[in-house]
Order: sequence, then C-alpha cells, then structure tokens
Amino acid sequence: MASNRPIKDSPIPPASERIPTLILPLVGDKAKRTLDVLERFVEDECIPSDPVFDSLLGRNTIERFSAHPKIIEDLKSKAKSLGLWNLFAPKGHFHDAHGKDISAGYSNIEYGLMAEILGKSAIAPEVTNCAAPDTGNMEVLAKYGTAEQQARWLKPLLDGKIRSAFLMTEPDVASSDATNIGLQMTRDGDYWVLNGAKWWSSGAGDPRCEVYLVVGKTDPHNPDPYRQQSLILVPADTPGMTVDRMLSVFGYDDAPHGHGHITFENVRVHASNMVLGPGRGFEIMQGRLGPGRIHHAMRSVGAAERALEYLIARAADPRKKPFGTLLRDHGVISERIAKSRLNIDAARLIVCSAAVKIDQMNAKEALKEIAEAKVFVPKVLGEVVDWAIQAYGGAGVSQDTPLASMWAGGRTMRLVDGPDEIHLLQLGRAENKKGNAALAKIKSQKSKTEQLAAAYGVSDKLEKLALNRVRGSSAKL
Ligand SMILES: Cc1cc2nc3c(=O)[nH]c(=O)nc-3n(C[C@H](O)[C@H](O)[C@H](O)COP(=O)(O)OP(=O)(O)OC[C@H]3O[C@@H](n4cnc5c(N)ncnc54)[C@H](O)[C@@H]3O)c2cc1C
Repeated sequence: MASNRPIKDSPIPPASERIPTLILPLVGDKAKRTLDVLERFVEDECIPSDPVFDSLLGRNTIERFSAHPKIIEDLKSKAKSLGLWNLFAPKGHFHDAHGKDISAGYSNIEYGLMAEILGKSAIAPEVTNCAAPDTGNMEVLAKYGTAEQQARWLKPLLDGKIRSAFLMTEPDVASSDATNIGLQMTRDGDYWVLNGAKWWSSGAGDPRCEVYLVVGKTDPHNPDPYRQQSLILVPADTPGMTVDRMLSVFGYDDAPHGHGHITFENVRVHASNMVLGPGRGFEIMQGRLGPGRIHHAMRSVGAAERALEYLIARAADPRKKPFGTLLRDHGVISERIAKSRLNIDAARLIVCSAAVKIDQMNAKEALKEIAEAKVFVPKVLGEVVDWAIQAYGGAGVSQDTPLASMWAGGRTMRLVDGPDEIHLLQLGRAENKKGNAALAKIKSQKSKTEQLAAAYGVSDKLEKLALNRVRGSSAKL
C-alpha cells in the first residue's frame, strides 16, 4: 500500500517538501499529506501499471475500443481507500441533493500541485477520477446543471461509474474561433434536432462514455455572435449519431478513450437537456476552460519532470558510455539537464501564479496568467522530452521508453483548448495596450536626463555619449 515514506536512500524529498517556497504558505496541512500519499500511489502503483494497462487493451482496434481492463477498477478502489478521489473538485462547487459540500476541499493551487504528480502516469488521472474531459464536464454540470441533470449525469460521473465527452470542434470550420461552430440545433416542440459533424471528441471511444456535452448553433442570426451557441447534453445512445472513425495522434489511438469523428443526423434531444438555456453556450465554455487549462499545464509539468528523470537516468547509465565517458560527463548533455531543470521550475511557477490568481480572484481575472501557462509549459515539455529522446538514441523513439508517446501527447497541448497563437495574440494585445504609455514614459525620462545633464553641466558629454553609442564606438570620452 502507498504511504508517504520517501524512497529509501533517495536524494529526492517527498512532494510536500518540494513545494515552491513562494506558495508554501498557501498549501494547507491536509493538502501536504495528500500530496505525499498521492506521490507514492502514482510512483509505486500507477506508473508500473501503465504498460500493463496498455497490454490488456489488446491489439486490434475493435478490442481496444471496447476494453475496460480490470486494473483500472482495482486502482480506483485503492485510490478511494487512500482518499485520492475527485481531488480536482474545487471548494464550494460540488454539493449533494441536500446542499452538503462534497468537494475534495482543495484550492486550485493545492490541486495544481497534485495534478503535476498525476501527469507522470497515463492512467493516474482516470483512477483518481481527475481525468479530462470529465473534470471540466463535471464542473459544467455542478455550476450550471439543473437538479435533474445533476442527478442523471453528475452523480455517476463523480462516482466514476460513467465517462463523458465534450464536443465542440468541427471538421469543416476553423474551430479555434468558437463563433464558427455551426452544428445546427433546431427547435421542434419539446425537442432540439441536431444536424452536423464533430471531431476530436475525446473520450467518445470509451464504452463507458454515456453523455456528450455538445455545442451547437440555436440562433444563427443573432447579431451578437456570442449568443448564437448553446450547450446540450446528449445521451451517447441517442439515435442518429454515428461514430465514423477514431482519429489517431501521431499514430497513437489513445484507446479506449480515443478521439471520435461523429456525424449527427436528425438527432432528437429533449429540451430539458439544454444547459442554462439557449444562447448561453459561450458563457459555459468560458467558465469551463480556466481551471481545465491549468490542470493540463500542471500535468504537463509532471510529464516534463518524468522526462527529465529518464534523461538523468540515461546520462548516469554505466553500461552505455559513448567515447568512454558517461553521458552526463559530456558537457552538452549536462547543459541540457541544467536547462531542463531551470525551465521546468520556471514553468511550475507560471502555472502556480495562474492557480493562485484563480483562487484569489477568479478565472476571468486570471486570463493573462492562464494564457502564459498555456503557451509556456507545452514548449518546455516538448524541449525536455526531445532532449531525453536524443539522449536515448534509437531507444528514445521506440516502445522501450514512454518518451515517444509523451512527445506525441505533449505536442498536442499546443493545439488543444485553443492553439498557441490565440493566447499569444491575447497576450500581445494586452502588452500593446501599454505601448503609448511606454512611449510617453521613455520620452519623459529622456527629457529628465537632459535637464539633469544641464543642471550638472554635462550636456556636452551626454551628447557625445549618445553619438558614440550610435556608432558603436568604444572610444573613451
Ligand atoms: C488530441 C486532441 C484532443 C482534442 N480534444 C478535443 C475535445 O475533447 N473536444 C473538442 O471539442 N475539441 C478537441 N480537440 C480540438 C482542439 O481543441 C482543436 O484542434 C483546436 O481548438 C484548434 O481548432 P482547429 O483544429 O479547428 O484548428 P483551426 O481553428 O483551423 O486552426 C488551425 C491553426 O490556425 C492557426 N491560427 C488560429 N487562429 C490564429 C490566429 N488568430 N492567428 C494566427 N494563427 C492562428 C493556429 O496555428 C491553428 O493551429 C482536440 C484536439 C486534439 C489534437
């Protein structure tokens, strides 16, 4: 059974002792204890189970997308018994039918540190009921769902009995601009009738996926493009939906979860399944994305830590010494290791900063920090995994290490939940708004310098200095 003991003779202290100093005062004792128990559970139980889970899925596509290996349920039971369940559920958002708070009770910053640990294993998020897209979907249902919707979908999701998918992206439009989403939702009596197509519907392959959260257009002529969309809950067995195929990610099928390409043909959904009401889709999507993006980012920090472990392990491997020297004694490798440490630590702080702002204000106020994390962390992950792959030579791109699949997963992070460019555009716009003020400030500082130079009688020298700078001269004045 997992405990919070550190690995014997390990130079690595337990997770609770590695919390960045800056955020230490924001992490409570309960969260610290959970971090240590979670770390041992992930390191000792989940990581060793990852390849076993994949082997149990089988080889052919049909088998892989209908599998539900027993090891998942065994690990779920262990996670529950250790109190490692629904860790993501933020304080005050999840209540039972009697209004009792049933959230795990952790803040975004506390769960962020836990998400980092979860990101080291492929199956750890699912076995602790903290996997995307279920987490975001549960937040939608908890925040905006009716009592009936919550009883039907939220309860079994929180219990880990079913899974869910979020269907926004479409094959025929540029979906990074969500105003383009065009799946038709037309009212017919007590029903909405859905026609169109979705793809990249992550989770739709899982036999336990029972509900799709579908975004579509209910009011295509509304002059406000942010009021045209709505979100409706579609039971996965509703007639008229066809899963045409499962998409691969750099050749990986991500089974049984997968990424579906789904056609909707006259799919009739009862109006009571609409969330919040027609025209409120954007509001829901915005509310869903903030915390979800930092969960992804923190898991990516964990994946980068794991890649660095592989890198330093290979660099220390006495069996493999190119040119008679351990890899770590080659300067270029040591420098990559040092840069990895530096960038991972910086990435963690960027995500922590977003999490703290969400905790202290809200996701809307933390847009800048969330965008920074969303762009910076996948870049760091990509570089560290790439260096680790390089250090392993041929083994790095093979099935003998998890690095190739980590690279594939990490690369997609630059696309999902909005591609890099959108976030950079937003960050660039915000910076550019300060441009005129910066221009005025620099001008005023120059003018003050001139006044000071005149007052101290060095106007003449000041001009010469400027002239020399322009010419790049090193001549002494
Ligand atoms: C593994 C994976 C899982 C996913 N899971 C889900 C899911 O569960 N549910 C779901 O709905 N979707 C999911 N997606 C879809 C993902 O969110 C979209 O792929 C993403 O939002 C981009 O949309 P798009 O593919 O339509 O690209 P487009 O909107 O066509 O954009 C293409 C490219 O254009 C560029 N671009 C876009 N805007 C700008 C700009 N303003 N300036 C400059 N360049 C720009 C970017 O480089 C962008 O990558 C998933 C995708 C992947 C790869």
